[in-house]
Amino acid sequence: MTQKKIAVITSGGDAQGMNAAVRAVVRTSLERGADVYAIYEGYQGMVEGGERIRKMDWDSVGGILQLGGTTIGTARSDEFRTRDGRRQAARNLIEHGINGIIVIGGDGSLTGANIFRQEWASLVAELVESGSISAETAQEHACLSIVGLVGSIDNDFHGTDMTIGADTALHRITEAMDAITSTAASHQRTFVVKVMGRNCGYLALMGALASGADWVLIPEAPPDVDNWEDVLAERLRAGRKAGRRDSIVILAEGAQDRHGKYIGSTEVQKALEERLGEEVRVTVLGHVQRGGRPSAFDRNLGTLMGYDAVDIILNAKPEDEPVVIGIKNNRMKRLPLMESVLKTQAVAQAIAEKDYERAMSLRSSSFSDAFKTLRTMVRSLPHPVDPGRKHFRIAVLNAGAPAPGMNTAARAAVRFGLDQGHVMLGINNGFEGLAAGEVKEMNWMSVSGWASMGGSMLGTNRKVPKGKDFYEIAREIEKNHIDAILCIGGWTAYEAVHAMMVNRANFPAFNIPIVCLPASINNNLPGSEFSIGADTALNSIVEAVDKIKMSAGATRRCFVVEVMGHHCGYLALMGGMATGAERVYMSEEGVSLRDLQNDVELLKSGFQAGKRLGLMIRNEYANPVYTTSFMCSLFEEEGHDLFDVRPAILGHLQQGGDPSPFDRIQANRFGCLCVESLLKECARNGTQVSFMGMKDGSIQFNDMRDFERVIDAEHLRPKEQWWLELKHIASLLAQQGPSQSA
Ligand code: ADP
Repeated sequence: MTQKKIAVITSGGDAQGMNAAVRAVVRTSLERGADVYAIYEGYQGMVEGGERIRKMDWDSVGGILQLGGTTIGTARSDEFRTRDGRRQAARNLIEHGINGIIVIGGDGSLTGANIFRQEWASLVAELVESGSISAETAQEHACLSIVGLVGSIDNDFHGTDMTIGADTALHRITEAMDAITSTAASHQRTFVVKVMGRNCGYLALMGALASGADWVLIPEAPPDVDNWEDVLAERLRAGRKAGRRDSIVILAEGAQDRHGKYIGSTEVQKALEERLGEEVRVTVLGHVQRGGRPSAFDRNLGTLMGYDAVDIILNAKPEDEPVVIGIKNNRMKRLPLMESVLKTQAVAQAIAEKDYERAMSLRSSSFSDAFKTLRTMVRSLPHPVDPGRKHFRIAVLNAGAPAPGMNTAARAAVRFGLDQGHVMLGINNGFEGLAAGEVKEMNWMSVSGWASMGGSMLGTNRKVPKGKDFYEIAREIEKNHIDAILCIGGWTAYEAVHAMMVNRANFPAFNIPIVCLPASINNNLPGSEFSIGADTALNSIVEAVDKIKMSAGATRRCFVVEVMGHHCGYLALMGGMATGAERVYMSEEGVSLRDLQNDVELLKSGFQAGKRLGLMIRNEYANPVYTTSFMCSLFEEEGHDLFDVRPAILGHLQQGGDPSPFDRIQANRFGCLCVESLLKECARNGTQVSFMGMKDGSIQFNDMRDFERVIDAEHLRPKEQWWLELKHIASLLAQQGPSQSA
């Protein structure tokens, strides 16, 4: 087999996380013994060749993980759209012996890649004919392997749940929305905010859901009436009357009315000013959405996709069709390149043809779910209660440690329940509060503003009821006529609910449906691949570690960063992958003396070879004896004059902060689904106790009777943890190059 020489290229619009993908491609290729090149400035660089095509080594991609944009540059290239340009590009690749390319870009770039591959044989033949290359060289380059990664902030690509850059763009949008909301609320103002996304309403829709906006206009679901301006103005007016201090409309750049007429921000502004009789401010978010540091998710997505791309190229056979790597249900997925591009373009086509039903059906189920949820959340008041329908009294409480997103979930649950005509009760201070009778009826506006707030507005604590607590809780359930309970929380919340279930024989009041909604920064709950709060904590860790790394300056220093997670290494591993930590210590694997000796030797040889920064991430319970301070002392002592060592225990900053967009989106979805499930159970007089979550791509309500079977009770974590299989990728990419920088 011919030796693989791989080139990586970023093309089209830049997206945060592209650097992580480039880093992963370069380092995985090197580790597998392949030569690897970067083509600077997109396809234009491929056409120009020369200095634009550079061989990469381990260090060429050091220190880029945390940078926004793409360090190898991107460009739009008209020359590559021509056959002459592509022939020239082929010649340049052959000159370097490159026989595989990894293209990171949007559907335009991937279309270009596909055309290039289809033409490859004829381009090579033309190069022989013109005498540019010999027949022998042509034979060596009979085929070109191509793998695509979708780098696009729009999240518009068919077949993948997320594209590289979309999550960070949502971060920028929610940050801006939070800022706008606070000023809008102070002055009781109306704002129209325009976000990017081309033909895709993903950023607008999720941005609206995450920020608690009042209305959204997206290309896939135009307003269903012609006088939408009147309806919108009426909605905002009703919202004000109901007590909202701000009115915010999010507009996707591709928004149109049901006749296909473009809706711009000035039109919305004018329409609202005329109808509301007040000034309406417009904010066009523009390129800030492409800017800033990549989120933890985008860094890890780029990393995992880049790793997989090299794996595919190295195993590619000449006849293999090009693939694109997508992510589906948390796993990398290989999609046929051209088919996926065509399906992506079919959505744009459906919108252009005003076939909105089809456009919506081509988006993912979470997209249409989110749209439905948003339509409930944005109502100014709930649907009036239907007197003919039986209503239930559903209580919502938070339990366990605070997790960012708890309020978002409670808000969604309360509004969903009220909108269905039921009574929603809020319990303050967890199970302790329930025992003490801290129960109050919630209304539509009791949860106003909760969509974006960190912490727990209901109040939470870690108390697990026992003994006489059960009497008190049973009494309060009866006194308040509670028909069902939604318990939003972490490990102790699950334990508390489990304890109630076990004590049902003694306390008939506990024979009601109860659902646990996973909310814990530790991501250590069974039945769900993600718990609400973990993504926020991960981003807090990444942000803190970025700063810590910068503080090292010119000194030679090793940091041992301790992160939370109890006995679950999720935050340590994913935080380590997103920051380029060279070593991650987790409770799942433990730490041995031999490990530490190895690590000391690696650190010493690395610093001797010129490295300036060491980064080790340690889960708080990785080992009870080899603590963070022990490790620091050991490394310091052994490092002598070569390097010094500093601990950084991140502590509670990981539990605080406003929830990340992903946590808010999940919290909205989970909150509504849990109440829906409780209502169904109430309607059939059921008493099921369950813990819900997202697993293998679907929402599952697991029977609480299985709780003990699926957990590792000693370490308070699920027996199965999906993310553990990613460990080797994180280690591979951060291992030491000659003068390594993370
Ligand atoms: P994106 O990849 O973000 O969708 P563009 O659509 O602008 O961005 O495409 C980026 C580049 O990909 C273009 O400038 C061009 O060089 C190349 N490209 C796009 N479409 C084609 C095509 N049909 N044939 C050849 N090259 C293309």
